[in-house]
Amino acid sequence: MAQWFAAKADHPNALLFFRMGDFYEMFFADAEAAAAALDIALTQRGEHDGTPIPMCGVPQHAADAYLARLIRRGFRVAIAEQMEDPKARGKANGKTPIRREVVRLVTPGTVTEESLLEAGRSNLLLALAQDRGHIGAAWLDVSTGLFETMAVPQAELPSLFGRLEPAEILAPSNLALDEWADRRAPEPVPSPPLIARRRLADAFGVSELEAFGSFTDGEAVAAALALDYVRATQAGALPRLARPSPQGRAGVLAMDAATRASLEIQRSRDGGVQYTLLASVQRTLTSAGARTLTGWLTAPLADTQAITARQDMWSWLLANADATARLRTALRTAPDIARALARVSLNRGGPRDLAALRDGLVTAAAAARALEGPLPEALEKARAALPIDSALARQLSLALEDPSPPRLGDASAIRSSFDGELDAHRALRDDSRRVLAKLQLDYAQRYGVASLKIRHHAQLGYVIEAPAAAVERLRELPELTLRQGMANGARFTTPELSDLDRRIAEAAERAAARERTVFAHLVSAALAEADTLAKAADALATLDAAQSAARLAESGTWTRPVVTQDEAFLIKSGRHPVVESALSGQAAFVPNHCDLSSDRRVLLLTGPNMAGKSTFLRQNALLVVLAQAGLPVPAETARIGVVDRLFSRVGAADDLARGRSTFMVEMTETAAILHQAGPRSLVVVDEIGRGTATMDGLAIAWAVLEALHSAIRCRTIFATHFHELAELAARLPRLRPHTMRVKEWKGTVVFLHEVAEGAAGRSWGVHVAELAGVPAAVVRRAASLLSALEKHGGLLTAGAPLGALPLFAATPQTEPETSGGTATDGLMVELAALDPDKMTPREALDTLYRLKGLLLPADETS
Ligand code: ADP
Ligand code: MG
Repeated sequence: MAQWFAAKADHPNALLFFRMGDFYEMFFADAEAAAAALDIALTQRGEHDGTPIPMCGVPQHAADAYLARLIRRGFRVAIAEQMEDPKARGKANGKTPIRREVVRLVTPGTVTEESLLEAGRSNLLLALAQDRGHIGAAWLDVSTGLFETMAVPQAELPSLFGRLEPAEILAPSNLALDEWADRRAPEPVPSPPLIARRRLADAFGVSELEAFGSFTDGEAVAAALALDYVRATQAGALPRLARPSPQGRAGVLAMDAATRASLEIQRSRDGGVQYTLLASVQRTLTSAGARTLTGWLTAPLADTQAITARQDMWSWLLANADATARLRTALRTAPDIARALARVSLNRGGPRDLAALRDGLVTAAAAARALEGPLPEALEKARAALPIDSALARQLSLALEDPSPPRLGDASAIRSSFDGELDAHRALRDDSRRVLAKLQLDYAQRYGVASLKIRHHAQLGYVIEAPAAAVERLRELPELTLRQGMANGARFTTPELSDLDRRIAEAAERAAARERTVFAHLVSAALAEADTLAKAADALATLDAAQSAARLAESGTWTRPVVTQDEAFLIKSGRHPVVESALSGQAAFVPNHCDLSSDRRVLLLTGPNMAGKSTFLRQNALLVVLAQAGLPVPAETARIGVVDRLFSRVGAADDLARGRSTFMVEMTETAAILHQAGPRSLVVVDEIGRGTATMDGLAIAWAVLEALHSAIRCRTIFATHFHELAELAARLPRLRPHTMRVKEWKGTVVFLHEVAEGAAGRSWGVHVAELAGVPAAVVRRAASLLSALEKHGGLLTAGAPLGALPLFAATPQTEPETSGGTATDGLMVELAALDPDKMTPREALDTLYRLKGLLLPADETS
């Protein structure tokens, strides 16, 4: 156990997988935690300090599946292997325990196994370091080799988390990670900046880190942290990584965490991936392409040239259908080159990983052939990165068996006639097997036992198995040695058989060893091309993302937006891609225009609940994300002046499902907009001021609207249920009131989902109550109260002081006609205080029961 305690002391934060024969065993608290997490039996072994030691284990051959479950549950696992072959050890040192060493620490952010990764998503390790006035961030994906850094203000960390969705975070313990706290790794010790720069330069074989761009001290420290951590988890080995690349924030559309959450770009509010922007536009054919497309959507550009370059790629593909068809055929068979390469570079690659590289090279060559003629710049760049020199491809195809066995040693991985020596060992092994078959016939005849068999036995090697009836007679023969009795017979050997057994074992071992050598040779041949392979993998991923975009545009309902340097914003017949696809089949999505030209850049949208306000708002924000990601947009035409910062907010009342949105959060987020938005921003605000009393809320919404219109002067869409705000149009020249068109039909409301200029005449809340199933009598009563309130409270007039605003809670001046009785009065008071706009259907129902309760006693006494 001393070995176990030593290994455990080195890795106190990880479960220790301790290799014992064919099992990985866990002890003490590790065993208890793992048994519970994996639902496997907890047993005991020996004693420690007088109490039994809890133990559990998983078989080595199935370890990957158990590892996957532990990692997904947030465990980290240290793997201690046997460093010598127990069989190969001489008798002399039979007393000393087999030497074991931790060969790898498996953590969520450093895995490379297919079973531990999501194919279409990056798996990022993020390191953070404090620097003067900002945070240095570095993130890398061990499974693909990506390595990037950025200097970010601390306030923008949540946005970075939202964009990267890191699997694991290395951060100083005094840096709060909030919602991402469960991804935190044990606290690392940062190196001083100079040393960090030195280590990075050394790791990438350059004399100065500046060779790769300019890094702040924070970025360099964070990058060194990430690198050291990876090295530690791989027991000293470093996977192939791209050179660290500092990402300026200049060319990127800024979106904070709240905006990302509200727009549901790669994850919906409930954490799902189905109803997201990504899901609605993803037409990629490979996992690598999916990862690239995700990167485009989570970090849209803010530089028109770069945006146009992406647009040109898919426009060309759209216009060259034949080439695109050939490209798609090639991509359909493309393996995940980047991830296979990462495993190979860590010496963890199996035959299938090399086969993936072989097939990847074929794909790359086919993709290069598909793209002919003069190409737009970005496409040309991608094509140029697809390697044409196929010496490696040829070598791999000659060498590798197809299909490949999952592991080396399972079955032959190397084709016969690729390596003469391997063939010779195999021939010897297989020859001996033929001799064996002949020997079995001989023995059967010689000893007159027809059912005699030669079989291979795990401990005894090759033996003769004879049936019970023959055992007595065979025991008499001097050349046969009895090795083992069985229920229905016995096992014997002969000197001849033992000799053959040894020769077969030796030949098989020599063949296996030679196969490992040949394999290692192929691995180094592949690694010599690692950079070219990685670039080709990147290029294929880019081509896949581009063809995915072209696919959208092929439908004819998605279009190439004109992205300009000015502050234009004109969408004709835009649609919300996610709502549209969710509706598909049930109802048609109603397209809407949106014009935020500079003389009308503030669009105020009123209308009842469920009319489509939130959908319209987000739809326009999503169009900006898509356009600046370089993708087509769901609209007839779109002209968008490049947006520097995008803000999208949901009012507290609409975000209750998240359980964290209090009025305070809503106001904090509003403050962030007012501080950060500039004239080139787009602000989309939904139902601001709902989380507080009507009067308060209206006042706040009013003031925010004024600030956006007159001080910040950004393009704005502002949805509100305070239809009174529409009257501000008289004082704010660039404000254009719009409303969701609603039709009254046979006494109920029908939502047309059409945005029209003008103001909503009234709130319609009463009608929504009716739709929700509030009984007719209550609805009728609410309608008459409403008209009383409107008459006496008076509508808001331009320039009126806040005190004159109508207030639902105000007592109507005309006492409504009642049937008398205190219960009914109580009902009136309750009813007057209701704000149906703010209710969920559930609340409406609860209220209804309460109202009924108020009424009941009166009914009984009358
Ligand atoms: P609001 O914010 O006004 O309460 P939402 O935007 O949440 O309304 O829309 C409510 C529902 O109406 C949506 O879930 C969708 O089913 C439907 N809807 C919204 N906009 C449209 C549209 N343009 N065309 C068709 N259906 C729509
Ligand atoms: Mg809404």
